[in-house]
Amino acid sequence: MSTTRSPARDADALQQRIALIACGTRPDKTQPCPGHRAQAAALLNIASTGAADALAAAICGTGRSPACHDCTTKATEIIRTYNAEPS
Ligand SMILES: [Zn+2]
Ligand SMILES: [Zn+2]
Repeated sequence: MSTTRSPARDADALQQRIALIACGTRPDKTQPCPGHRAQAAALLNIASTGAADALAAAICGTGRSPACHDCTTKATEIIRTYNAEPS
């Protein structure tokens, strides 16, 4: 762990992780698809509000609740990831 953390880099790394979760994680997968990467900033914004329902709906692509089970699971994981991030 470096003591000189770059906020911009950290935000990037967090967005990348969020995009990957939204895209669907696999052991051999390290990069989200371009579509989910483009969504990352918006998903990060929603995650910061802690609104799992809205986040799940955004991942699902409908923009409104209820989202499917898959996206609800991903939203929960993203919020847990976001909250685990030291601020
Ligand atoms: Zn994707
Ligand atoms: Zn869905």
